[in-house]
Amino acid sequence: MVDVEELRKKILEKTGMSRAELDRLVEKKMREYAGLLTELGVLYTIAKEHGIEVDIDRSLGFRKKIGELRAGEKDVTVVGRVVRILPPREFKRDGRKGRYVSLILSDGTGEIRLVLWNRDVDLVTSGKIKKGTVLEVINGKVEEFNGRLSLRLGYMGRLLIDPEVEEPLPEPRRYRVEELTPNLNDVDIELTVERVFDDKEVEARGEKIRYVAFLGRDDTGSVRVVLWGKDVELRRGDVVLIRGGYTREGRLGVEVHVGRGGSVEVRRLPYVRKRLAEVEEGDRIEAVATVVAVLSSKPYSAVCRDCGSPAEWDGERWVCTSCGSTNVRVTPLLVLRVDDGSSNLRAALIGAPALRFYGGSFPSGAEEKALSLLGRDVLLRGTAVKNEVTSALEIIVDELGDPDLPREIHDLLQKVEERLGEREETKSREVFKEEEGR
Ligand SMILES: [Zn+2]
Repeated sequence: MVDVEELRKKILEKTGMSRAELDRLVEKKMREYAGLLTELGVLYTIAKEHGIEVDIDRSLGFRKKIGELRAGEKDVTVVGRVVRILPPREFKRDGRKGRYVSLILSDGTGEIRLVLWNRDVDLVTSGKIKKGTVLEVINGKVEEFNGRLSLRLGYMGRLLIDPEVEEPLPEPRRYRVEELTPNLNDVDIELTVERVFDDKEVEARGEKIRYVAFLGRDDTGSVRVVLWGKDVELRRGDVVLIRGGYTREGRLGVEVHVGRGGSVEVRRLPYVRKRLAEVEEGDRIEAVATVVAVLSSKPYSAVCRDCGSPAEWDGERWVCTSCGSTNVRVTPLLVLRVDDGSSNLRAALIGAPALRFYGGSFPSGAEEKALSLLGRDVLLRGTAVKNEVTSALEIIVDELGDPDLPREIHDLLQKVEERLGEREETKSREVFKEEEGR
């Protein structure tokens, strides 16, 4: 076990300090760390400051791996990295108020919840303990709560922030889609948006909660993601970095959910102006082209939710052509063929972008509005994808609008000027060289 005296002796020997000096230093440090360090921890810090090598294994006692912990164990010492912090909570019991905060610690062999109470909560709210911080829990007690193990500091318990470790603990890692299983906590994952589902709302406890769902992909697979109460507008091709998500078994397999404890960061790649002939799969492009055909026979796809048959707009509502149900799923659609002189491509507006284009004329006047595009020049922004059936490239359009002619002309002129500028520069460089050569 831990030998304070041995470490003390070693420090005295190596530094030439007097016992009284060392005592004063220990006392001062203990105050500084406000009870966060044990005497041993303090001695250890002092040793480290004086460049004294300490055999960690022997001096810091027996550390257990998180994966080895069992319910009911007392006086356990573990080291783990904080991979997730749950929001602090307040409670009232017997007229007394209290606070607690739960941290999830991980050391690569497992995860365990560490609960800090009352004044220790400040360590989290003040930022002393953050996600990623390595903690040593000394004299912890392992309890079972709702079938999961949790750790709390016992009466003699101590918490050490950034303790010495033999091997670095694994960083909170990012998952890949193929590694996802149900009931994971604290899932960090980076996904590219493949498809955005319509925004929805659910009611829970009289409160309406909005959610955004999308299909995300990395190079190991794709997964449905649900963002709860997050105000984000996603587009196909956006890169979404999720931190602190969790997984659930959904209807179609594992899903990633992000709630209050998680965060979402969206990176939108800029649209790059390209000629259609230069477009490659995955490009986020902007192009000006002429609409040469309207390929969608109808401005929507409407399917009966009850029987799956096609539905139609009867002038007032959507009605199933087969069973007469009005429970219909409608997706506004506009599929075009566009040509910019270099090549021609299929360009599809699905859902929200199509509805934005049709505006008030959906659904009654939508067909006419679509046909009015024939022969017109349009500006489109979207992502180039490979059609699953024909494997031809096509553009999934986010925005369709009129080309901004003054801007187009301005850009063109600028390009010309740049070219001229380059030539001028080359010329002057040549002149300069000649001058130098003399
Ligand atoms: Zn039907």
